[in-house]
Amino acid sequence: MNDAVAFFQRPFPSANAVLLRGERPVLVDGGFGADVPALLAWLQAQGVPAEHLSLLVNTHFDCDHAGANHVLSGQFSIPIATHWAEAALVNARDAEACRARYLHQPVEPYRVDWAMEPGDVVDTGLAHWMVVETPGHTAGHLSLHAPALGLLVTGDAVHSNDLGWVDATRPDMLDAAEATMRRLAELRIGCALSGHGPPTTDPAAALAVAARRLAGWRSAPERMAWHGAKRVFAYALMVENGLDEAEITPLLLRSPWFVAYAAMPFCVDPADLVGPLMAEMLRSGAARWQGGRLVAGSPYTPPPPGWAWAPTEPTLWPM
Ligand SMILES: [Zn+2]
Repeated sequence: MNDAVAFFQRPFPSANAVLLRGERPVLVDGGFGADVPALLAWLQAQGVPAEHLSLLVNTHFDCDHAGANHVLSGQFSIPIATHWAEAALVNARDAEACRARYLHQPVEPYRVDWAMEPGDVVDTGLAHWMVVETPGHTAGHLSLHAPALGLLVTGDAVHSNDLGWVDATRPDMLDAAEATMRRLAELRIGCALSGHGPPTTDPAAALAVAARRLAGWRSAPERMAWHGAKRVFAYALMVENGLDEAEITPLLLRSPWFVAYAAMPFCVDPADLVGPLMAEMLRSGAARWQGGRLVAGSPYTPPPPGWAWAPTEPTLWPM
């Protein structure tokens, strides 16, 4: 890597944080609200206490990336920057903001101060980081590219051997994700720092893996549908650290993403999707029973209790 950045790799489902060093240090993605105490300690250990940060950039507004915004902006007066499309939803307190309602993942309220556009530059004093639009995981996803350093902070656009969840109810996001892989493949990147997992030292290979996966989904939409449904449900199992059997059906039926998946692409009544999804989760190993609770099958570290919010701020929004 490079002295211009510090990388805080967290266990899934918490998101990684990246510190862009310089006279005006910048943090990219803070994590869940409940991750704030660990984040503050890590920043301190890097010699950049939170009050020295000049800016917080969000690659996108999901709870594992933007959950810390409320405290970082409120308590430390750090301005927040993100893509203009997500900024508009957040600042309007739109029901779609942070996908909090859709994914059943609450986020504490915050305001965006800089609605970023492609080509905007974050100048830390040590490096210029260009804003690159990388939609697909969310419609307003962005990445930061430092051409002089050959570094890319990708958020959930692409990981070392994977890519962020693409919503199967949004065919336009499949198109967008494919365009994102093509756009990133044109950049000079020696190392990519993603929102989950380790640094990617062969970004071209990672982009090729992601492009192949997207092409597979395009040729077999039912695979994309099952992948999407299983992944978001597995994520819910991780943040809840498992669910009792009696909790599963009510949780799914009150989750807007689940109702949307039932309508399209599965074209069934939501109640009729619960059984097949459960069967597919267990068959594929995406979930398993453990002591009477359904838990995620992939390795994970449950986020701190009350994962959505920082310990002192129990306000939830927009749920
Ligand atoms: Zn994420």
